Amino acid sequence: MRAMLTAVAALVLAGCNQQVAEAPDLILHGGTIYTGLDRLPPVEAVSVKGGRIVATGTSADLLKTAGSATEKVDLAGTYLYPGFTDAHAHLYGIGERETSLDLDEVKSIAELVSIVGEAAKTLPAGQMLFGRGWIETHWPEARFPTRQDLDAVVSDRPVVLERADGHAMVANTAALKAAGIDGKPKSQPQGGRIEVDASGLPTGMLIDNAMGALAVLQTAPSEAQIDATYEKGAAREISLGWTGVHSMSVAGSHVPRINELSDAGKLNLRIYNAIDGSDFDKGVFGETADKMVTTKAVKLYMDGALGSRGALLNEPYSDRPDTSGLMIAQEEPTLALMKKAYDQNIQVCFHAIGDKGNELVLDWMQRTFDAAADKAVADKRWRIEHAQILRLEDIVRFHQMKVIPSMQPSHAIGDLYFAESRVGPRRLLGGYAWRSLIDAGAMIAGGSDAPVEQGDPRIEFYAAVARKDLEGKSGPQWHPEQAATREEALKMFTIWPAYASFREADLGTIERGKLADFTGFSGDIMQISDAEILKVEPTITVVNGKVVYKRPAPAA
Ligand SMILES: [Zn+2]
Repeated sequence: MRAMLTAVAALVLAGCNQQVAEAPDLILHGGTIYTGLDRLPPVEAVSVKGGRIVATGTSADLLKTAGSATEKVDLAGTYLYPGFTDAHAHLYGIGERETSLDLDEVKSIAELVSIVGEAAKTLPAGQMLFGRGWIETHWPEARFPTRQDLDAVVSDRPVVLERADGHAMVANTAALKAAGIDGKPKSQPQGGRIEVDASGLPTGMLIDNAMGALAVLQTAPSEAQIDATYEKGAAREISLGWTGVHSMSVAGSHVPRINELSDAGKLNLRIYNAIDGSDFDKGVFGETADKMVTTKAVKLYMDGALGSRGALLNEPYSDRPDTSGLMIAQEEPTLALMKKAYDQNIQVCFHAIGDKGNELVLDWMQRTFDAAADKAVADKRWRIEHAQILRLEDIVRFHQMKVIPSMQPSHAIGDLYFAESRVGPRRLLGGYAWRSLIDAGAMIAGGSDAPVEQGDPRIEFYAAVARKDLEGKSGPQWHPEQAATREEALKMFTIWPAYASFREADLGTIERGKLADFTGFSGDIMQISDAEILKVEPTITVVNGKVVYKRPAPAA
């Protein structure tokens, strides 16, 4: 009898020890937790160990499993979602935006000129002034700024101001002179345009590849500056609730820096890099041991952007019949690169905005797939970045070819103001066609294209479901029927980006066994009104099982 009691006691003790050893590292409780799993109700609590989710359920049940070392976070009635991932952003540019002259809020050419004049006064003599983020869509002058506008306030140093879409710049005469392009252009660059006035002289506006001439004005940043820029960018992302970013057009030389920073715990953001096409052979593909940084994709460009009329169209622009846009990619070298990417299992992320641009990318991808021996296209998961204006017959090709449309809802609510004048009502039927693409079976990887757009998960989620501008307005050609449902919008920023980065087994939903990446907001974005979505606050960001951001407590 005694022997038996001892045995039972030993078992109980063993059980206790086991429980201590298996106690979670972290329990988030007392909230409404949307798991992202179809047709299942939210849970109250989730527990995490070793970076992975070990259980979901009621607060009472999960808190019972806590050990003495378990970190307990009371969500206090707030809301938790699978980690939001920005499937198209430029992390370096986001960091740069934090430090360069920000022109996002400029409301007219007059204001632009006055801000530039003031900013130049703060710089040492001769130092170039660089600004970014202007967008003329709503300006009363209803035209692009010119070099003369800028010359009027700054003529003694180069001024270069990048348009919000990153596909155009306006430069003053000093900048054009320094770049050797201030005279009448003898020819136009391939895939770019130096805009000229009636006398044939440059207006200062440089579109797409024409911007390359200004590269001589830039000084290369130091390694320390690069690191600081990435740290700033990552810190901003996690404070907004992003747990991951698919970073586009990354310089190959930056990848070792990003890996090192991540390994040193200085980023705390999951990063999926698509490197610049010109760096394909630099040997930077791979991932960090903890898989926080993965470099497995290459970014290519077929055309430019719609606003600056660089997007490649099948027929001329409705508001400028002399142009159909720009083709940036060259067929032969690009197809060769695509074949190489296919053979090395590197994902192609191909920028295409106009209907012709998208058609060509789909054609070139199809040709690459057809030429491959293994025909394993399903697992290639190649992507079209933006996929903005589509011929109706191309919509179904995404699902058929297993090509992922990577789209940015905020682009739609910005572009739809001018999209109709650019392409007319007929072509807009396939514009920003989220509903049609999803109904045709495509999984849309949702992104923001920050710093082109603000890069705020609330704005992207709102734009996807409301398809109205931030004031709640829309126009007759905005096609509200193309909006996404709340459930679809959640997928666009969670499980579909996970799929688009080959991580759906580990990321994208809150379920046992997956990695613990969570985004917390103060409000229930699955239920509240559209307008209220913009007012929720990011409350907590968890990446790889670690609380990397927490909303500061209100001052007492
Ligand atoms: Zn982009």
